[in-house]
Amino acid sequence: MIDFHAHLDLYSDPASVIREVDRLGMYVLSITTTPSAWPRTSVIGKTGRRVRTALGLHPQLAHLRFSELPLFDQLFSEAEYIGEIGLDGAPDFKPHWERQLHVFDHVLARCAAAGGRVMSIHSRRAASAVLKRLAAHQGAGTPILHWFSGTRSELGKAIDQGCWFSVGPAMLAGQKGRELAGAMPRNRVLTETDGPFAQIDGRAAMPWDAHLAAQGLAELWSLSIEETNAQLHANLKTLALGVRMKPDP
Ligand code: MN
Repeated sequence: MIDFHAHLDLYSDPASVIREVDRLGMYVLSITTTPSAWPRTSVIGKTGRRVRTALGLHPQLAHLRFSELPLFDQLFSEAEYIGEIGLDGAPDFKPHWERQLHVFDHVLARCAAAGGRVMSIHSRRAASAVLKRLAAHQGAGTPILHWFSGTRSELGKAIDQGCWFSVGPAMLAGQKGRELAGAMPRNRVLTETDGPFAQIDGRAAMPWDAHLAAQGLAELWSLSIEETNAQLHANLKTLALGVRMKPDP
């Protein structure tokens, strides 16, 4: 079972969440939203067998944590994975659009200079702009659009640009999310939860709720849950091989 976008540091007791993740043999990408969260979160992550930590600066925090960009650069060489980064075009965050663009461009340029990284990317109401920035930074690595909510045409462009996708139970709960997920190439999809931000039946999602996403994908793909999990694990393996094969100059 795979949760490729979880905020482990935001649970009240991350250590107990990691113990359960380990007991289940899960793979988790532990996402940070600010560079200053990296030291603590990466230490927590190292206690998990298959937990990896991603260095990020969330677009919704870009205007507040802009001053942490130098810290981002300082920590960059320690981070195999990058996220959460991206753009958010919703009304609350659109006023800070220039700051968001500056941060996103900075991070993409840094990733490209290092030979590429796997990146977990937020694109709410900003899918076209995210794709445009990715196209401008060829070689930034493998973009994984998390909880993609753009249009079908934007999805088509994202697929053409080589994007991957992580899909969670909240996304698959709605008809639009299911249609988008069903149109994604099966060999570029991973499961996620976005817990504890994302909710399931009024409670915070836990990493092991990723099994609900796998069940949803099994229905969309008309596969058994075993076949679906085999596909998802093959995808993760492809991605992880790509990470190791990319040299850091
Ligand atoms: Mn998130």
